[in-house]
Amino acid sequence: MLLFKLIYSDAYYLPIGAHVFPAEKYRLIHDRLLTNGVADAKDFLEPKPASDQDILLVHTPEYVKKLKTGTLSAREQMELEIPYSRELVEAFWLAAGGSILAARQALIDGVGVSIGGGFHHAFPDHGEGFCMIHDVAVAIRRMQRDDKIRTAMTVDCDVHQGNGTAAIFAGTRTASAPLPSAAASTLDSSSLGSSQGCSALPGKIHRTQDGAVFTISLHQHNNYPLWKPPSSIDIDLPDGIGDDDYLAWLDNALSSGLRQFEPDLICYLAGADPYREDQLGGLSLTIEGLKRRDELVFRVARARNIPVMVTYAGGYAKNVEDTVTIHCNTVIAVRKVFGA
Ligand SMILES: [Zn+2]
Repeated sequence: MLLFKLIYSDAYYLPIGAHVFPAEKYRLIHDRLLTNGVADAKDFLEPKPASDQDILLVHTPEYVKKLKTGTLSAREQMELEIPYSRELVEAFWLAAGGSILAARQALIDGVGVSIGGGFHHAFPDHGEGFCMIHDVAVAIRRMQRDDKIRTAMTVDCDVHQGNGTAAIFAGTRTASAPLPSAAASTLDSSSLGSSQGCSALPGKIHRTQDGAVFTISLHQHNNYPLWKPPSSIDIDLPDGIGDDDYLAWLDNALSSGLRQFEPDLICYLAGADPYREDQLGGLSLTIEGLKRRDELVFRVARARNIPVMVTYAGGYAKNVEDTVTIHCNTVIAVRKVFGA
């Protein structure tokens, strides 16, 4: 039996039909973890859907009403890029409930993993890019409302920038100092254009301002979303970057972020789409490199005694089994770092 909980429900499945988003991945991950003996049935907790009150901690009443009454405009439906249905709304409320439970478990066990979630393209007043509700933001705001945490840090390693996260927490964002020079990286900085590389907001350091959320996003610059609202730290990676450069940038971003900010909770979005065979990504990480990435995040959190909640975000490998392997490896990495 694991020393931490995996949050999962068969109802995580997104009813979106044939789609580049492999909605069956959650069940496949669950099944693989059981078959491979990584977890047993007792390691899983079934989440409850978030309440409307929870969702409203992040999203506007107008948007929530449109979702509940099926009155999104044609344009809003198009931006969402997945077909609207009542069942889909229920699946997103459940994903948010799963992230709340994963956060709660992280505060108990040091780490909690939702086999789902990570819908980082959702904004307060609309959904985008397969993301209807920002489950991670809902979990953070719920933990803050319940006085379980004061501050949080998001570490978003999906290949796409966390635009929703950046927009939601812009009001409370702690402006970060620029990253130190890329000493930790083997990346040739001359290969980065003026709009690439690290961008960070100048400003003073506010270590533990109540309610503050520090946002880190490592993503491919030449990819969705076109408009990237500023995170506390954005690492705009050039196309085709491989394991070692990626890991150096991640290490650099984590050290820099944690020098400036002391979170009560880290929310790790373990996207599988930086993988070199991803259909919607343009980076070149290997399955092994992605596992090292997960271990790096968990080691840093553990060394500083900061609880971590994990969600999965994207993953569109040509072979869905690769996406499942990458996501299962995240649980194996947690087990390795936090003990079995
Ligand atoms: Zn993605």
